[in-house]
Amino acid sequence: MEISSIVKPVFLGYALNMKIPQEITAILEKLEASGHEAWLVGGCVRDLMLERKIEDWDIATSAKPEEIMAVFPDSKYENEFGTVLVKLDEAVREKTGIKVVEITTFRQEARYSDKRHPDQVEFTDKLEDDLARRDFTINALALNHKATTKKSKLGYELVDLFYGQRDLDDKIIRAVGEPEKRFGEDALRMMRAVRFAAQLGFEIESKTKEAIKKNAPWLEKISQERIRVELEKIILSDNAEQGIRDLQEMGLLGFIMPELEKGIGVAQNRHHVYEVFEHNVRSLGFAVQKKFSLAVRLAALLHDIGKVQTKQGSGLEATFYNHEYVSAKQAENILERLRFSREMTKKITHLVRYHMFVYDVGTVSEAGVRRLIKRLGPENLDEAFNLRVADRLGSGCPKAVPYKLRHLRYMMEKVAKDPISVKMLKVNGRDIMRSLGVAPGPKVGAILDVLLAEVIEDPKRNTKEYLERRVLKLDKENLAKLREMAKEVIEEKRGEEDKEIKQKHWVE
Ligand code: ATP
Ligand code: MG
Repeated sequence: MEISSIVKPVFLGYALNMKIPQEITAILEKLEASGHEAWLVGGCVRDLMLERKIEDWDIATSAKPEEIMAVFPDSKYENEFGTVLVKLDEAVREKTGIKVVEITTFRQEARYSDKRHPDQVEFTDKLEDDLARRDFTINALALNHKATTKKSKLGYELVDLFYGQRDLDDKIIRAVGEPEKRFGEDALRMMRAVRFAAQLGFEIESKTKEAIKKNAPWLEKISQERIRVELEKIILSDNAEQGIRDLQEMGLLGFIMPELEKGIGVAQNRHHVYEVFEHNVRSLGFAVQKKFSLAVRLAALLHDIGKVQTKQGSGLEATFYNHEYVSAKQAENILERLRFSREMTKKITHLVRYHMFVYDVGTVSEAGVRRLIKRLGPENLDEAFNLRVADRLGSGCPKAVPYKLRHLRYMMEKVAKDPISVKMLKVNGRDIMRSLGVAPGPKVGAILDVLLAEVIEDPKRNTKEYLERRVLKLDKENLAKLREMAKEVIEEKRGEEDKEIKQKHWVE
């Protein structure tokens, strides 16, 4: 292992003084006052040096967990990780921006046999051992303040055993020690390398990169949750597009989202410059440039994956009918597999499913806009819009928001107060049950849907008299017929959807 210095202190002067919150210094001092060593370690040291925002502060100490607890009786011990979480007042958090302070006993990880967990964790009294188990040189720095003699101001002592400062300067992600061995201990580190490169705009050093390329299939051993955490950080970073390209180039993407990778080499048609994979990745890139939400970024990345399976014909005339349904289904599978929250999965799937929505300034009616809002869901409008913007830019269209979309915004505002959900109707389920003398059941819901469909057509119908009259009439229809009636208006008919698809591909 390349070791630059064994605890050769580097004094960094006073600039850092300003950036380490008083509350954090106080924690270090308290541990020291009780006779323990205490160091800032990991991401917070790296981010201090890079002048990046810090929310999570990690402290490594020679104190054993019960000794840490004795110093901070209010704190919480997480047995599984051997980590102590320091309790902070809400007011302090707010003032300082500190989210979490974690104190961990110096440790070394002994023997890995399954590429993801150390067989056991051993405490050690040596900071050096604790730094040597860390993943990358830039994450293996330790920092502590020491009173210096110079004018009795505070200076900072930095322990840098693996040339972490040099790599920070050179913008390099380099494994601590032998890359292949380190990835064999924990295969997630391969993905973390890509994640840090994307977050920091760094390059992965060549030996580290080669070791990833050679051993990418080890990622199969890693739980989907851990993969998701890193993927989310890549997607939320400013270099997400590059991050996905890196995952692909190094052979990791196939173990994360194989469905996305299948778009490589799949050409589109006369209206598209880019192949399917390239278009998806570029759409993500623009979603990032525009600072769109995580949901929009993921929807942009996945919105056209279904084109691989739905492609018909070849060359300039190829078609991709119904690809949005297939994309949505695949996106749902991917997101569920990666254990994204149900809410997030639902939202992204929905955005992908409806990304082809069409809007024709010449022929659109207010009822048409209300139907569109109903279909997209009022809470998803902005994101559906943003997805369209990213999609357009990712296709090589120079203008993100053309007249058409601006007009749609205007129309949406115009109809914003019109009823588009059953909750906004002037009669409710109870009214219907009372007036028909029936118990709760699917028919009540179906009648409400038909009423809504009629009110979407014409909001003036949203009066108690009109709706009550309709309820008596609709009572004569059976359930299947009622559902059919509601569907015809609210969801469009098949033919109309085909039109949407054509419009996107052939008219824009
Ligand atoms: P972030 O700002 O995203 O939290 P971070 O560097 O703090 O970045 P964490 O995942 O919070 O990343 O980990 C904290 C530190 O613990 C890392 O800087 C690194 O030193 C060490 N570490 C975390 N995960 C691993 C791992 N899988 N293998 C080795 N060291 C790790
Ligand atoms: Mg962290």
